[in-house]
Amino acid sequence: MISKYKIKIILGYTGLLFIIIITILGLLSSILSFQLRQEIDQNLKEKMERIDSWLTDRNEPPPCDREFFRSVISNRRISLSDILNITEHADEKYLLFICCSDVTMFLSENYKDLEESLAGLILEDRKIETVVLGTIQFSFSAINRPGYSVYLGYELSTIQAVQKRIIRIFLITIPFVVMASVLFVFFVTQRLMKIVRTITETTARITSKNLNERIPIPAGKDEITNLIVTINAMIDRLEKSFIMIRQFSQDAAHELRTPLTIIRGEIENLMMQKRITKSLAVSLESIYEEIHYLSSIVNKLLLLHTMDTDEKKYSFTPINLSAVMNDLVEDARILASKKNITITLERENDVMISGNEELICQMIWNILDNAVKYTDKKGSIKVRIRKSGPEAFIIVTDTGIGIPSDSLSEIFTRFYRVEQSHSREVAGSGLGLSISKWIAVLHKGDIIVSSRLNEGSEFTIHLPLYMKQ
Ligand code: ADP
Repeated sequence: MISKYKIKIILGYTGLLFIIIITILGLLSSILSFQLRQEIDQNLKEKMERIDSWLTDRNEPPPCDREFFRSVISNRRISLSDILNITEHADEKYLLFICCSDVTMFLSENYKDLEESLAGLILEDRKIETVVLGTIQFSFSAINRPGYSVYLGYELSTIQAVQKRIIRIFLITIPFVVMASVLFVFFVTQRLMKIVRTITETTARITSKNLNERIPIPAGKDEITNLIVTINAMIDRLEKSFIMIRQFSQDAAHELRTPLTIIRGEIENLMMQKRITKSLAVSLESIYEEIHYLSSIVNKLLLLHTMDTDEKKYSFTPINLSAVMNDLVEDARILASKKNITITLERENDVMISGNEELICQMIWNILDNAVKYTDKKGSIKVRIRKSGPEAFIIVTDTGIGIPSDSLSEIFTRFYRVEQSHSREVAGSGLGLSISKWIAVLHKGDIIVSSRLNEGSEFTIHLPLYMKQ
């Protein structure tokens, strides 16, 4: 397929070529016409000199002596060719007109029909002028003597003929030149476009997961190879930065995990003591919740690292979703009870899938946790598990704040949070759904969302059912 860019280059180049050819054509035809006209005028001058001296040699004919002119010209004592010093037939374009007080003494045979037009002609002595007689254009010069005038003209059709010939030659050659140029540009841009396509495809393929890919460098050394080398160097730098960031977040998460676990244990111990005051118990519970939240972020960061580096480390076993869901919904009910949210569970028995239980629980928990987080007090959440065809479905429907339609495609992106959830000051990292999506895809399933703002959301997880071998 011919790309738009290629069409633009070809059209632009051909248009430019066309303008250049037309300009050359115009210039060439003007220069040639000018030169021809100069030659014609120069010739006329010379001829007039000859006629002048010829007339002088013959001792000035008496005014209006038609006989004189007839005898010298028509009786062929001397022919026009002799006077003009031109070859026999080349005089066809010359018009010699001699008149005496409006009476024609002599007029070249070829132009007899122009006698009427010539009758009123008055020209300055020895001045070259352009005159149109009938439809024919002439360059004229005159000798005005007392009593008579001699006019010599040269038909300018030669110039027009030359112009026509130039235009004809150009008209014949233009299509070939244009075709050749189109082919040339086509093949030159073909190479360019191929390289641009490779750059686009490779850069589109490069994500945070395969930053080790590079654009192949074509042979030769030109601006294109320089561009590719520069892009590759930029990807090098990006890769290094990504590795550093990943390493940092993993190291930080690792470093944080142990102290957080210790703090959580200590707080649990304190909370179990009987002699603590009520206000201290409330504070401890609040600290405990924050520590729990921090631990969940640390766990998500560690999971992100695994997602990026080592997808294959998880072992799969058969999982009874119906049983797993019971426990998860129970935990969610504890959270929901603080907001007076009711959670109902409808489930088919023994919905079995094959997967990693820890990841599956994490995925479902993220969705349940969000449903509780983003549903207002006294709302309700419905959880359904069912089988259909070769797939298991987990559907979580809430009556929460909903998601704006323009954010629906973004919520599975890492660190993305809808503005609205920020403004409501609901704690969150924007990582839960991206992790859940990754877990679903790892299990050859997916998560679909539908939502209406201020009415609620529905998340549907579908996973392949477990098949006994
Ligand atoms: P977070 O930690 O912010 O909850 P998630 O990745 O789990 O991160 O979710 C991304 C965003 O999607 C949330 O910030 C929230 O705006 C929106 N969201 C997710 N679940 C729901 C829901 N059930 N109702 C409304 N908005 C939701």
